[in-house]
Amino acid sequence: MPELPEVETIRCGLQRSLPGRRITAITIQRPSLLNNPPRRFRRCLCNRTFGAVLRRGKLLILSLLPDEPAAPRYLTVHLRMSGGLTYTAQARSDARVIFKLDNGMQLIYTDQRCLGQLEVVDNWQCLPLVRSMGPEPLEPNFTLACLMQILSGSGTPIKNVLLDQHKIAGIGNIYAAEALFAAGIDPRRPAAGLSHAEAGKLLAAIKSILRAAIHCRGTTFNNYRDSRGKQGSFVRRLNVYGRAAAACMQCAQPIQRIVQAGRSTYFCACCQR
Ligand SMILES: [Zn+2]
Repeated sequence: MPELPEVETIRCGLQRSLPGRRITAITIQRPSLLNNPPRRFRRCLCNRTFGAVLRRGKLLILSLLPDEPAAPRYLTVHLRMSGGLTYTAQARSDARVIFKLDNGMQLIYTDQRCLGQLEVVDNWQCLPLVRSMGPEPLEPNFTLACLMQILSGSGTPIKNVLLDQHKIAGIGNIYAAEALFAAGIDPRRPAAGLSHAEAGKLLAAIKSILRAAIHCRGTTFNNYRDSRGKQGSFVRRLNVYGRAAAACMQCAQPIQRIVQAGRSTYFCACCQR
């Protein structure tokens, strides 16, 4: 599932290609992916010109420039499990929604499992999903005090707190596992039980791992590709995620796999206490 680094990589790629490009036609192969009636979706977007491409948590926000008398609008894209956005000249047989652009290129939405969602909105900040999101972990206002506040009073395992988008935006299963390994914290521990020093290590680990993953253009396990169709290379830097029974890079003990809240958790019982 694309997490903050993958969505940010797609955002950066689209930000280089889309602003100033006008949508000339839209083909909808899978109307169930739209959160608007298809006719309204098409009418709201056709002949509009893209502005800046934004991100909040795992949500992509493609702005459309105001076009008198039409107000600014936004196309929000939630990639969920297997969604992707590609800027390409080539047709794709797996395209779910195709936006033809005025320069002959296309913006193609693909989604193997069709769990993603596209929606045209007038104001993305007001979306319930956005209003309920926790802070952005790479913003300067995500401080140790902020993290301590999130952890305090929570008897929930720390791994599940990291995955909770209402608490912190953008972290998913891969980067939660990697951040806890880097901080040496057992994923099963109650969040409120972390010391000030441990929370400090976790904060630094979250920020440095997300930044390193963005630098590597994300982690490709199966579906994820960037906006030009290329794989992300952070998979080579993973210490625990997806490495069940393999030797820990630090202590050579086998990496454990357990299930927490229905999701796989990978960790080293020796290095993470
Ligand atoms: Zn270890």
